[in-house]
Amino acid sequence: VEDNGADWIHVDVMDGHFVPNISFGLPVCASAKPHIKTIMDVHLMIAPADPYLEGFAEAGADILTVHAEAGPHLHRSLQAIRALGCKAGVALNPATPAEAVAHVLDLTDLICVMTVNPGFGGQSFIDMTAKIRTLRDMIGDRPIHIEIDGGVDPTTAPLVSKAGADVLVAGSAVFRGGSVTNPTPYGENITAIRTAAQGVWV
Ligand code: ZN
Repeated sequence: VEDNGADWIHVDVMDGHFVPNISFGLPVCASAKPHIKTIMDVHLMIAPADPYLEGFAEAGADILTVHAEAGPHLHRSLQAIRALGCKAGVALNPATPAEAVAHVLDLTDLICVMTVNPGFGGQSFIDMTAKIRTLRDMIGDRPIHIEIDGGVDPTTAPLVSKAGADVLVAGSAVFRGGSVTNPTPYGENITAIRTAAQGVWV
């Protein structure tokens, strides 16, 4: 996917506790890192997250994102991530208001707005455009990305881009139709999402 236009690689870590599914953990991240030429964007859907931050930093995370709902000390988690030399991200489940990050904006490099309830790939998009607009206003001129995770495809990409998102995560909509031996569809799928998202700015 990198050779076909992906800007970052987003890695979903699930623990079967914070979310109902289990994906993978530290060894898989560490094994993937040498193959990633761009940015390894690690999304921790785990609770607690704090005991594992150092491990994921050592595994090569460039961006390390924790959920606002995953622990009582989000401020401390974000401080710890930056102290480990990673960019610090915070993710918000659909039910969590934008205001949950109001007092940690100066510790945050990325806000991940979940547009599905986290835990599984291939779910349909939940409209969070009002939350994205609120976050964009709260952020002001701070250099903070707004990332959208869940149900992103060429139909939903323009909605979230117009609302203020600048990083779009897609799984199903990128990998559909392609394979390791036939990666051309990856490029076509990525181009379709990028074109749809950028169309709102022209
Ligand atoms: Zn994710």
